[in-house]
Amino acid sequence: MDKKLLALLACPVCKGELKLNDARTELICYQDAMAFPIREGIPVMLANEARTLDTDERLHKQ
Ligand SMILES: [Zn+2]
Repeated sequence: MDKKLLALLACPVCKGELKLNDARTELICYQDAMAFPIREGIPVMLANEARTLDTDERLHKQ
């Protein structure tokens, strides 16, 4: 995914910064502990499509 595009994206819930996961399949908001899916290269920035991070994932916060 394009880094420039990523820089333009903000969390739809808190408007905070998003992190691309290692597999580049999700955009993660650690503030809300939510992961937004990337489908066919297009980020789905909808809270009702997001997954809640599990405890291990939350601990990866930097
Ligand atoms: Zn957020």
